[in-house]
Amino acid sequence: MITRNGIAVSPGVAVGEALVIGSEDFRIPQRFIPRRSVESELHRFRQALRHVSTEIAQNERLANEAIGLQYGAIFAAHLQMAQDPKLISEIEILIRDRCYSPEFASSRTLRKYAKQFQELGNAYFAERAADIYDLEKRILRHLLGEQRESLAELTQPVIVLAHNLTPSETASLNKEFVLAFATEAGGRTSHTAILAAALEIPAIVGLGPFLADMSGGDTVVVDGTSGEFIIDPDDDALMRVNTVRQKYQSVVDRRQQMRDLAAETSDGTRIFLMGNIEFPQEAEQCHQKGAEGIGLYRTEFLYLGRDVIPTEEDHYQAYREVVEAFPHQPITIRTLDLGADKIPGWIRRQYSDESNPALGLRSIRMSLADLTMFKTQLRAVLRASVDTEMGVMFPLVSSLLEFRQARMIVHEVMEDLEEQNIPFNRDIQLGIMVEVPATVMMAREFAREVDFFSIGTNDLIQYTLAADRSDPQVAKWHNPADPAIIRMIDLVIKAADEYQIPVSVCGQMSSDPKMVPLLIGMGLRRISVSPHTIPAVKEVIRNLSIEKAQAMAQYVSTQELARDIESYLTRELRNLVPDQSH
Ligand code: PEP
Ligand code: MG
Repeated sequence: MITRNGIAVSPGVAVGEALVIGSEDFRIPQRFIPRRSVESELHRFRQALRHVSTEIAQNERLANEAIGLQYGAIFAAHLQMAQDPKLISEIEILIRDRCYSPEFASSRTLRKYAKQFQELGNAYFAERAADIYDLEKRILRHLLGEQRESLAELTQPVIVLAHNLTPSETASLNKEFVLAFATEAGGRTSHTAILAAALEIPAIVGLGPFLADMSGGDTVVVDGTSGEFIIDPDDDALMRVNTVRQKYQSVVDRRQQMRDLAAETSDGTRIFLMGNIEFPQEAEQCHQKGAEGIGLYRTEFLYLGRDVIPTEEDHYQAYREVVEAFPHQPITIRTLDLGADKIPGWIRRQYSDESNPALGLRSIRMSLADLTMFKTQLRAVLRASVDTEMGVMFPLVSSLLEFRQARMIVHEVMEDLEEQNIPFNRDIQLGIMVEVPATVMMAREFAREVDFFSIGTNDLIQYTLAADRSDPQVAKWHNPADPAIIRMIDLVIKAADEYQIPVSVCGQMSSDPKMVPLLIGMGLRRISVSPHTIPAVKEVIRNLSIEKAQAMAQYVSTQELARDIESYLTRELRNLVPDQSH
C-alpha cells in the first residue's frame, strides 16, 4: 500500500479500479496476454512498428521539403530510435518472456528510457525524453488503432489517473463511470479543479509524479475531501475510508437541512449567497442547494468540449435554461473568458502561438478582437434578459478604456435589436470582474462607471503574487490568505461602498469556509460560490455574528504573513463549526 497527498479539489471518497490515461487520452490497456497469443501479439507489434517507421519517414520528407533539412533531422533521429534493434528486442523480450501486452511493453520500456534522460536534468536530455514520449505516443496510436478508448466512452466504473486533464477533457467526463480522478499536475483553482467540483466528481490534483509506477486495474482510493490518495489499500485503510465516507455523508445531510433557511448571520444580517456555474444544467443544482441567484456563469464552456462555434441560438438556449431555474433572481452572465487554459484547439489555431497564454490574448481582449463572436454572444444574452434581473460582466478588464469599448459594443447590439423589434431588458446591469491588479488600483474610477464589481480572486492572486493557479509547484504562493490580496479586496470593497455599487467575490476564495468570516468582516454582503459549497458556506454564515466577523477582519489586518492569517482563520473556523467534514 502506498499513500500520497495532493490538493483536494472536489469532495467525496471513492474506491475503485485505476484507469491510467496515457498521453493523448488513451488508456494503456490490459497488462498481460495469454501465452498462446505471444506470436500473434509479436506480429501485431512489428506491424505497428512498420507503420510508425513509414509515418516518421513521411514526416521527415515533408519537413525537409517544407521547412528545411535541419528540421527533417529531428524525424531522422526518431526513425533511428524506432528502428533501434536493442530497443526493439527489449520490448519483444517483455512480450515473449513476460507475456506483457505490446502496448504495455512498449510503454514500460520507452518510459524507462525517457525517465533516465529526464533525471539527467539538462535541457538537451529533457528534449530527448520528449522525443521518446513522442515515439511512445505514435506506437500506442498504431497499436490501439480503433480500440483507442476515449474518456467519453467508458463502459465500466473507474478512477481516472492522468498526468493532467484539460478543462475540455474534464468537461467531457462521464459521471456515471468516472468515480473520481487524480492527477499529477494542477492547482487548487485550476479550471480542471473547478470543473471537477461542478461535476461532483471527487478529485485530487497536484499529486506529483506517480503514474510511471501505476498500472491499469490497480485498486486506488481518492479522498477528494482530505487529498489522500492510496494505491493498493489494505483492509485497515479500506475500513478507515469507509468511516470517513460515512462521516462525510452525515455532515452533508446536516447541511442539506439548512437548504430553506436564510443565509443570515446569527445577529440578523442577510448575506446574499449565489452560485457559480459552468454548465446551464448546474443552475438547477444551485437552486436545490438554496442559492439565491447565479453570481457567475462561465459561458466559455459552451465552446469547450465541442468543435464548432456555438450559434446565437446555442447561446440563447443555454441562457434561457438558467433563467428558468432562477426566473426572479439575479443572474450574472460573464462574457467569454476564452484563452489561457480554456481554449479549444480549433480556436487556438486562429491565433499565433503564445509563449505566455495567461498574459496573452484572453478573455475580454479576445472578445474585442473578434467582434463577430462577441456580438453573437451579446445578442443572445440580451434576448435572454427579457423580464429578468440579468447582469453582464466582462472578464479580465484591465483598463477603463476596455470597459468603455465593451459597453459601446453592448449599446450597438441593443440598437440592432431595437431596429429588428427584438425585445430585451434595457436595464441590464453592466459590470466587471476585478481580477487584474491594475483594476484594483483604479477601483474608484471604475466604480464611477460600472454597475457592479465581482472580484475574481483566482486570477487576482495569480497576477498579484505571480503564481500560476494551475501549477502545484507554486501552490503555496497562490494563497488567498496573503495580506497583499486581503488589502486589495479591501480597496475594492471600499471603492464600491463609496459609489454605492454592489460588490461580490466569485473566485474560489469565497467557497472556502474559513475565508467567509473574514470577507463578511471586511464588509462583503454578496458572495458567489461553487454549488457544492453552498451548504457549508451557509452553515458558517449562520454560526457567525457580524461583531465576531469584524473583530476577525480587524485582527487579520494587523498580520503580515499569509501563514499566520491562514492558521488563525482555520482555528476560528473550528470554533465556529466544530464538526467539519474532515
Ligand atoms: C477568478 O479568476 O477568480 C474567476 C472567478 O474567474 P475564472 O476562475 O473563471 O478565471
Ligand atoms: Mg478569472
